[in-house]
Amino acid sequence: MIERAIWPGGARMALALTFDFDAESLWLAADPANRERLVTLSIGAYGARVGVPRILDLLAAEGLRATFFTPGWTAERYPERLEAIVAAGHEVGHHGHLHRRPDPADEAGMVEEMTRGLEALARVAGVRPKGYRAPGGESCEFLLRLLVAEGFVYQSSMRSDDRPYRHRLADGSPGPVEVPEQPELDDWNFGATHLRDPQPLYPKAAVLAIWQETFRGLYERGGAATVVMHPQVTARPMRLAILRDFIAFTRTFEGVWYATAGEVAEAFLAAEAG
Ligand code: ZN
Repeated sequence: MIERAIWPGGARMALALTFDFDAESLWLAADPANRERLVTLSIGAYGARVGVPRILDLLAAEGLRATFFTPGWTAERYPERLEAIVAAGHEVGHHGHLHRRPDPADEAGMVEEMTRGLEALARVAGVRPKGYRAPGGESCEFLLRLLVAEGFVYQSSMRSDDRPYRHRLADGSPGPVEVPEQPELDDWNFGATHLRDPQPLYPKAAVLAIWQETFRGLYERGGAATVVMHPQVTARPMRLAILRDFIAFTRTFEGVWYATAGEVAEAFLAAEAG
């Protein structure tokens, strides 16, 4: 059953391709000692050296725009990559500064990550993002209030729904729009492995089957699929074919609206207003 249709042009569902452009920031935040662990850092560096250019080529060939949630540190370290992302018409979202996971016990730290990230994206790419994704996959009430205070339209961090919705803050006032993500569509869960964070690697056919069935289920319900990808994972030679073949699969369905996460949030706002 299709729930209330909110997608433009009578589309049946929305599909947002999103990339968390962490580069080395993820590892630097995970453990300060990683500064001296060059092999560990090289996992993230792959996303900048190889991953983003490959992904931009694929998106251009497919004629699709995506959202790149980018830490301020990454923008400063790889300004040419940010410039290429912006020049190709993709959306840039906030993803912290040094990818520090929001900690409710450290409000000053959350403000610093927010401020430094905004400054870096403005300075490097001339961007004032309207969307935010929490680094390390966690959020809290203080952060939601901070997003409102900084004028963000939406967050894309929660796993709470198959469609966008509006947060309600503890005092009853409106919070940001949420563009929820699906853990089944997060490539970190299937393709990231490392000495200090070992995970089983899933072959292409297994990931494609999970993504296709998740997409099909969301299509039947008129939902929004938010694919969460990481250039250091997505662009590995075997894995880029997963994204390419998944896009081809989605094109066999009628009425799929390919959008950035920001456009999904705006579709929700239009439906909310009307
Ligand atoms: Zn991240």
